Amino acid sequence: MARDYYEVLGVPRDASQEEIKRAFRTLARKHHPDANPGDPGAEERFKEINEAYSVLSDPDKRAAYDRFGTADPAAGFGAGGGFGGGFDAGSDPFGLGDLFDMFMGGAMGARARGPQRGSDVEVEIAVDLREVLAGAERTLRYPRVERCDTCGGTGARPGSGPAVCRTCGGRGQVQTVRRTAFGQFVTSRVCETCMGRGREVRDPCPRCRGAGVVRRQVERVVRVPPGVEEGQRLRVAGEGDVGQEGGPPGDLYVRIREAPHPDFVRRGRDLESRLRVGLAEAALGTRKRVRTLEGEEEVHVPAGSQPGQVIALKGHGLPGLRGHGRGDLRLVVELEVPQRLSPQARQALLDYARAMGERVDDEGGHSLLGRVRGAFKG
Ligand SMILES: [Zn+2]
Ligand SMILES: [Zn+2]
Repeated sequence: MARDYYEVLGVPRDASQEEIKRAFRTLARKHHPDANPGDPGAEERFKEINEAYSVLSDPDKRAAYDRFGTADPAAGFGAGGGFGGGFDAGSDPFGLGDLFDMFMGGAMGARARGPQRGSDVEVEIAVDLREVLAGAERTLRYPRVERCDTCGGTGARPGSGPAVCRTCGGRGQVQTVRRTAFGQFVTSRVCETCMGRGREVRDPCPRCRGAGVVRRQVERVVRVPPGVEEGQRLRVAGEGDVGQEGGPPGDLYVRIREAPHPDFVRRGRDLESRLRVGLAEAALGTRKRVRTLEGEEEVHVPAGSQPGQVIALKGHGLPGLRGHGRGDLRLVVELEVPQRLSPQARQALLDYARAMGERVDDEGGHSLLGRVRGAFKG
């Protein structure tokens, strides 16, 4: 048998219902498991307090307890369930969370709709590298929710005007009474008829059908700053959906997609392109005209340049979004190996191979190596 219920609540045997309720509230607040994290005893105490209150707050059960010294807690608690099983603070089977909210001064879901910020709208645009370099201006056409002009946002047919909501009488909230093991609890909820507005449209506006808002295509000019990157979102404040009940509008987000360029690959602020050079050019060095984003430049390819080697054209890359100056154009050397040779070029290459000690196949079966071998054998 558990402790005496009067003792648990710390009230005299002739305590009034008001005193019992007051004692329970004070104790429940103090021993609520949420208020005592890490204290395994709190749950047990809380369970005990609830058990005592559930009996003493019910005049019939209290009378039985006074007379017989027991009021079987597993019996007669109706659909709300008893305390036969262990108390599980996590599953909150008795709405104790709500109860706790009330004790802590919470309004228990009575939050009216009131002013609400409009939703954000996202639009995607593709920019090419020249636009990344210089920035761009775009005229965007996108749909967004705007106030209905026909009814001025009231949702009512012009001239009729919105009427007071019949469900909530204009308060925007409805109250429900819940019976729990601990007594009755009054909960306020947002009125579902008027969604908390307190007004009800009985003769809806023909254009927006009572919504007060319409979806409309709008046109806005947006400035894209230099240096934007794939996947970035630019925020244009206040150009999203209109707010509700006088709330502020949402924002417009412009998501950047980067259009691929035939010549350049972007690597952050740097650009990369291929620089094809011939065998002799790579070996002896040369000057080459190369394409940049803005035009052409001449670059010097030093003698002995290797395939894969990078020649950087400083400051010919892209600007940073926060203005750190421009990156570089990185030219990656690619060796162009000739596939067709004039007789003259062939001879020059054979001479070259001999000079370098390279072993090459000669076209037509007369390999240089074969001839050399033949000379030794002969
Ligand atoms: Zn309208
Ligand atoms: Zn209402």
